[in-house]
Amino acid sequence: MGDASPQVAPASSGRVIFLGPPGAGKGTQAARLAAHMGVPKISTGDMLREAIARGTPLGLQAAPLMEKGGLVPDELLIGIIQERLREDDCARGYILDGFPRTLKQAEGFESMAGGDRTAELLVFSVEVPRPELLRRLSGRRWCPRCQATYHVETNPPKREGLCDRDGMRLIQREDDKETAVARRLAEYDERTAPLIDHYCRRARFHRVDGHRPVDAVFDELKGLLEAAR
Ligand code: ADP
Ligand code: ADP
Repeated sequence: MGDASPQVAPASSGRVIFLGPPGAGKGTQAARLAAHMGVPKISTGDMLREAIARGTPLGLQAAPLMEKGGLVPDELLIGIIQERLREDDCARGYILDGFPRTLKQAEGFESMAGGDRTAELLVFSVEVPRPELLRRLSGRRWCPRCQATYHVETNPPKREGLCDRDGMRLIQREDDKETAVARRLAEYDERTAPLIDHYCRRARFHRVDGHRPVDAVFDELKGLLEAAR
């Protein structure tokens, strides 16, 4: 996934939000765009999975909810994001992957430092037809050590079942199994999709066709980022 293009200065605010249903490719694109812009990718899903792996109080509270495909309470997410955004590496901007996921989280974000600059935010809503989402989620594999993601068909590791970076055995996320996926898609429709209308009115908002090869989607995102500078 090397990105040879030079780093560019972030868009005026340097803050990007990825919206989209589970499996749309948010994490894949957010990682590439973060490397391209030289800003951190902040994925609440990764942060929660790390908390679970460490057995922290947050992890213990989140685990049973995540496993079933439900959302973790808004106050917890607002708290962890607030703390994360205070870190030095966020000063030049950041990419949010998986947050905000509810209107309450969006409002919480807007009341944090810099949240009054919503009009400068660059928001990408990645759109993919549902049958393709199901194909992507059922084939997604994940490294429990470094959180790299693969797909058994479209993005397989070099050695079957093993992470390219650290050789760990790849696994399927519990919430990528059928029952949890149905619940996650329903949560998206009910609680996250309304954010499209929210940001459409307030931010620099773009719908992006995510049902294309990874490189094609990324090229469009880079173009939109350039245009926003
Ligand atoms: P999200 O973060 O939105 O849930 P991911 O980035 O984890 O999505 O991608 C979901 C799955 O689909 C992963 O297995 C990933 O390798 C694969 N994938 C991502 N983007 C594409 C694409 N453009 N075409 C095909 N497969 C993709
Ligand atoms: P995906 O890549 O499929 O979009 P994520 O890795 O972002 O999934 O999130 C996995 C799970 O973590 C969610 O189903 C939810 O349980 C929890 N989660 C992540 N971010 C949030 C959030 N902002 N609010 C509530 N729950 C969250």
